[in-house]
Amino acid sequence: MKAEPVHQVRLLDLQEIDAELDRLKHRARTLPEISEIRRLDARLVELNDQMAAAETALGDLDREQRKAESDVEQVRVRADRDTRRLEAGQVSSPRDLESLQSEIASLARRQSELEEIVLDVMERREAAEGRRAELAKAVDAAAAEREAAENRRSEAVLEIKDEVDSATQRRTRVAGEIPDDLAALYVKLREQNAGVAAAALRYGRCEGCKLALSTVELREMRSAPADEVMRCENCRRVLVRVDDSGL
Ligand SMILES: [Zn+2]
Repeated sequence: MKAEPVHQVRLLDLQEIDAELDRLKHRARTLPEISEIRRLDARLVELNDQMAAAETALGDLDREQRKAESDVEQVRVRADRDTRRLEAGQVSSPRDLESLQSEIASLARRQSELEEIVLDVMERREAAEGRRAELAKAVDAAAAEREAAENRRSEAVLEIKDEVDSATQRRTRVAGEIPDDLAALYVKLREQNAGVAAAALRYGRCEGCKLALSTVELREMRSAPADEVMRCENCRRVLVRVDDSGL
């Protein structure tokens, strides 16, 4: 293939711009904020699950507390009734009197046992409320952290977009100067060679694969017509002769 030396050098410019565009796309895909947001999303799901469990536990404790309080109330009402009967002097038989007094004493013991249960439930409820408040704080913190990461990501994406726009404009200008057949070869080689289709020969070395050319290869490069499109024997990329090729 033939191409004016100036067009071959332009191909190196195009290659440089494409490498820059590749770097920018890679940067956009691998922004640290992306994995940070993913991590925070997972954390928020986990926290919300824990929050739901804490709400359920609190609801259960509410019911347990109401039940315990109503148990206390029942015993208290019965003890009050017995006490009123005793004070009214309605019970005259010594045996009934003894039985009533024994029941009142037993109800008092039962009431204090049940009051212990109420206190215990209230303590557990307080702990559960504390846990819920802690979780709410953690959810707020994670959400704020996520928002900050999201803002940083948007900023970085905008910055990258500006750079992509400017590189794309430069690319259009440069690509317009390159003959079609050379451009087509470039596109094909770029696909085959991890994005690098053209390289400069610099100080006797191919900048694509970094290998030094042999004496024979260097002689060929030197003797080939300037408009001959040369290829690296090793990596098959377009090898462009430049001022400091060392020929
Ligand atoms: Zn090479």
